[in-house]
Amino acid sequence: MNVAELYLKLSECHDVSGWWPAESGWEVMVGAILVQQTAWENVERVLGELKRRGAMDVDKIATMPLDELETIIRPAGFYRQKASHIQNLARYLAREYSSDPRGLLEKDIEESRTELLSLPGIGEETADAILLFAGGRPKFIAAAYVRRLLDRMGMLSSDDYWEVQRYVESELPPDAVVFSQLYALMVHHAHTVCRARPMCGGCCLRNSCRFTGTAGRADCRRSSRRGSRW
Ligand code: SF4
Repeated sequence: MNVAELYLKLSECHDVSGWWPAESGWEVMVGAILVQQTAWENVERVLGELKRRGAMDVDKIATMPLDELETIIRPAGFYRQKASHIQNLARYLAREYSSDPRGLLEKDIEESRTELLSLPGIGEETADAILLFAGGRPKFIAAAYVRRLLDRMGMLSSDDYWEVQRYVESELPPDAVVFSQLYALMVHHAHTVCRARPMCGGCCLRNSCRFTGTAGRADCRRSSRRGSRW
């Protein structure tokens, strides 16, 4: 099976429409930092509270007292670090791009990525999630769930982030919609069926999968559920 076939097959199995709901690129950027090492449900609580306070705004977060931001972010865990990283990003955008994230996200894609990676709290997965979901840029996220599924399928066995990213990107047209759909499908499949202990019995990929794990209970036909983003 190649990557395009995997994409088509997973599209038949799952519905991931509205997988990352957000009203702005800035909301995606905040969510991408908040979701590090926590479940999406906790992120949703924080995003909801920021909106309830009218604070889902680059300038408002840039100027908010840090302890107030920490209190809002507490449900997402690691709240001191995350508050600091989000406020630092907001101040950077305010200073360098007149508070408009598009200034950063619409540059040459590698230039944008390098700039994001230079900021505290933004690693490769977070930078690529921001580029893909906030910027609509064709950059695939080679997260751990993606690497595990590719390995089990017998498509690519590698823990090297860049190698996995390059492999997927080389097999598809550089289309952000395709990349974001495939990523959502793979992560959803990993959460619901191809879990740490895979439920192969009900898996729609089992006829093409190299892995001969245990028979499972899940049935992934047209399943739909929003879960963690990576
Ligand atoms: S058959 Fe099993 S190991 Fe292979 S993708 Fe499905 S759940 Fe994962």
